[in-house]
Amino acid sequence: RKKIGIMTSGGDAPGMNGAVRAVVRMSIAKGCIPYAIYEGYEGLVKGGDKIKRMHWEDVRGWLSEGGTLIGTARCAEFRERWGRLAGAKNLILNGIDALIVCGGDGSLTGADRFRAEWPGLLDELIEKGEITAEMCDGHRELNIVGMVGSIDNDMTGTDATIGCYSSLTRICQAVDFIDSTAYSHSRAFVVEVMGRHCGWLALMAGVACGADFVFIPEKPPVEGWEDEMCDIIKKHRALGKRKTIVIVAEGAIDRNLNEIKATYVKDVLCEKLKLDTRITTLGHVQRGGTACAYDRMLATLQGVEAVEAVLSAQPGDESPVITITENKIGRVPLMSAVKQTQAGAECIKKKDFDGAMRLRDREFEE
Ligand code: ADP
Repeated sequence: RKKIGIMTSGGDAPGMNGAVRAVVRMSIAKGCIPYAIYEGYEGLVKGGDKIKRMHWEDVRGWLSEGGTLIGTARCAEFRERWGRLAGAKNLILNGIDALIVCGGDGSLTGADRFRAEWPGLLDELIEKGEITAEMCDGHRELNIVGMVGSIDNDMTGTDATIGCYSSLTRICQAVDFIDSTAYSHSRAFVVEVMGRHCGWLALMAGVACGADFVFIPEKPPVEGWEDEMCDIIKKHRALGKRKTIVIVAEGAIDRNLNEIKATYVKDVLCEKLKLDTRITTLGHVQRGGTACAYDRMLATLQGVEAVEAVLSAQPGDESPVITITENKIGRVPLMSAVKQTQAGAECIKKKDFDGAMRLRDREFEE
């Protein structure tokens, strides 16, 4: 019976538990044996009790649990060949040759690298006498399937990543709370939200909360934006608005790639508009708590698809990543999606902001 490993890696995101649950149960339903690999790549490198066989009831109730119950970590060892060698040994010792990784672009890059090196890693382990050739029989290919767990919605080729709508929901709730107090005192609030390289959360929160102004990394404001922002807010105030909300993504920059700080935006509002202005940094509440309905559904449908992808893989196939496009679950080549995502980030560094928007926006092309 085929043994399938599932791990969560990189930054945690609401919905990751739903993904693990779906993979575990779909694997069992298909006659396979699922294994959870605890603490991401750290567990893979350490092995032992970090790799645990999962049963149907082990994931009971996981849909409504926040964070990731099998743990996640950033693992420097897995970036080294010896770390991946240890990981390969631990998988072979457990008879696992398929790995479903739920994480961000870093985790998925690591997974694909592991797949590419797999035959060489096995040969080296056999040569060193750490495993036998017989143990590798039928496991000469490593099957990798990616699922994107990220609150930032920062992967090209998919409309939504697991966790992004939960985080957006949390931001909206927080801004609603801020709204009431802002209205009462007729104040302005600068709200800092997560998104170091990707402005999706800030942009969508702006739309969903009716913010006055939004700063995102992909589309820095033109020079003199201070006046533009103030004119817009003045107009809103003249129309009778008693509250002002400006949303700043963590990675917001100006056209010279200088960080736009919430404190600076606050100073501008205080000085130019004489508004009583406060800053709220939402921080980790954006990651915590239970997944929203959409993320539970997405994690479940994609977990099912991930197991299907493992079972339909042919020798020599590229690793796929599971997507959702126009409400349909699908697959695209994992490394193409990762590379296009990273190309978008590179565009920003080169001040090609239109290029960044295009790569973010564009439907994934194989
Ligand atoms: P995310 O998956 O959220 O993008 P990271 O970029 O921190 O987060 O990656 C998570 C982990 O994936 C890293 O700590 C490392 O163990 C592994 N990883 C990332 N990139 C690579 C790589 N190029 N080679 C091997 N492992 C990698």
